[in-house]
Amino acid sequence: MQVPSAITLAGAISSRLAAICGTRSPLRCAPALLVAIALPVTASAQHVHGEARLIVGVEGRTGQAELRATGEDLFGFEHAARTAEERTKQTQIFTRLRTEGAKLLRFDPSLGCQVAAKNVRIDESGDHGEVVASYTINCRVAPQGKPLRFGISSAFPGIDRVSVQLVSDTAQTGATISRDRGQVVP
Ligand SMILES: [Zn+2]
Repeated sequence: MQVPSAITLAGAISSRLAAICGTRSPLRCAPALLVAIALPVTASAQHVHGEARLIVGVEGRTGQAELRATGEDLFGFEHAARTAEERTKQTQIFTRLRTEGAKLLRFDPSLGCQVAAKNVRIDESGDHGEVVASYTINCRVAPQGKPLRFGISSAFPGIDRVSVQLVSDTAQTGATISRDRGQVVP
């Protein structure tokens, strides 16, 4: 299996932005950001156990995020839930993904950001089952220039690291966050 690099993901986002923005600078093409984030950027070849991928787009005081993690890392299996125990486990994890967005993406509390789940689903298109959780971000104060931290590994210990790509109207950046250590700045 090919291990994805942050550069591959950043490249995918950049080329998508270029396609949408045309000759305008991607950072001056803010409406395209949310479109770029809304489309699935990942392919099954990028599925790596222990590693989740997070794409964040921020424009002004609002944004979107998409977290992709393997079923294995989240609830210990990737086949369709068969037993009552498996269904219960899966339901619990889905509920937490829906309700704990603000714990996973930790904006500075002074910004008053809400991270609300838009959709949590299973993507079976690859060889492995992946869970895709989409979030809408709404802040009282624009988060540009303020560090965004994470609580993904502490919420879901099976996720060792998160490959983060962030695009805002002022920044385009990425980082590999290991056990929630590190930050990105929109
Ligand atoms: Zn897998």
